Amino acid sequence: MGIYLDNAATTYVYPEVVEIMKQYHKNNFYNPSAGYTNSRRVKEDISAARKTIANIINAEPEEIFFTSGGTESDNWVCNDAMRKRGHIITTTIEHKAVLATLENYGRKTLVPPDEKGYVSPVKIRSAIRNDTVLVSVMTANNEIGTIQPVKKIGEMLVEYGILFHTDAVQAFSHIPIDVKEIHADMLSASAHKFHGPKGCGFLYLSKDAHVDPFIRGGGQESGKRAGTENVAGIMGMAYAAEISANRMKSEMEWLNKIKSYMTDRILKEIEDVRINGGEERLPNNMNFSFKDVDGSALLVMLEIEGIYGSGGSACNTGNKASYVLEEIKVPEDYIGGSVRLTTDSSMTMREAEYVVYKLKKCVDYLRKNK
Ligand code: PLP
Repeated sequence: MGIYLDNAATTYVYPEVVEIMKQYHKNNFYNPSAGYTNSRRVKEDISAARKTIANIINAEPEEIFFTSGGTESDNWVCNDAMRKRGHIITTTIEHKAVLATLENYGRKTLVPPDEKGYVSPVKIRSAIRNDTVLVSVMTANNEIGTIQPVKKIGEMLVEYGILFHTDAVQAFSHIPIDVKEIHADMLSASAHKFHGPKGCGFLYLSKDAHVDPFIRGGGQESGKRAGTENVAGIMGMAYAAEISANRMKSEMEWLNKIKSYMTDRILKEIEDVRINGGEERLPNNMNFSFKDVDGSALLVMLEIEGIYGSGGSACNTGNKASYVLEEIKVPEDYIGGSVRLTTDSSMTMREAEYVVYKLKKCVDYLRKNK
């Protein structure tokens, strides 16, 4: 199928995960809320899945709430803070799941990043008001991969007693996350970003965070997120999270190696190119801008060569320049020639070499044939 370099948009589902999910669709299909033995077993399996996820982020099982994915988790947090009519601080480079939810809300401050994409804890601190109820800063950015100083931000917010939410959709299962260490009260994650199924995610809600129910109805998810559980999705997500946690150390090493190799060669061997984002970045993320190159044409040419990259966020398609790249002030003659390459640990060094080789050829062709 070629070389898939759009893992920030979504990942393939691990075959073992597909198998587990099949079992819950075919054999263990019972409603976890029913009273008979088979149903009670499914309910126990869901509790085990909750525990697995809680352990990975150093939380308690009662603090994990299953949702339909990152968008829902982010919406839950933002809607709750807006209902409380409090002031909200977030950043200009959050995912649209946060920014669009808050769009028409007046009591908010959007903090811009610096030119590497980092959000300064000092700037967050100076945005705090007496009525601030929530700070939401993503763990890592989906376009440029920059890992935010969430620990510093979380520590600082403890002093003020303000709730801290982090959108960890791109980070969870890719870098270690400990909610106690970063002092997060809430954290969003999504299964399809770590080889689990689409349409399933979770929200970590600390016991001390008083957040209203998001979906009302039956008493599922401790009455906070009603609706019959997506059992196969939850079981698949927990299994994918467990596999990823076990492989994380070696995968990070391998992905960092591939990233360094490709980045070094691209920056050395292609003229007028820049890497977007900081040094502290997700192991699987590279985002380049090529001066005077049409990024859409480059992506088409790469696709013909069997390389599948992206222009930025999957939710941000079309020819509009990425708001994240605008926020980090990528120069005008570079911004249109931007591509995001997000890898997966199945990538080989030979494939990395092939991508660099083709990228050089395509950029050269486009520059000569403008
Ligand atoms: N937050 C971030 C940072 C993301 O990258 C994404 C998806 O790309 C989302 C939220 C939305 O997650 P989902 O696709 O599970 O709704």
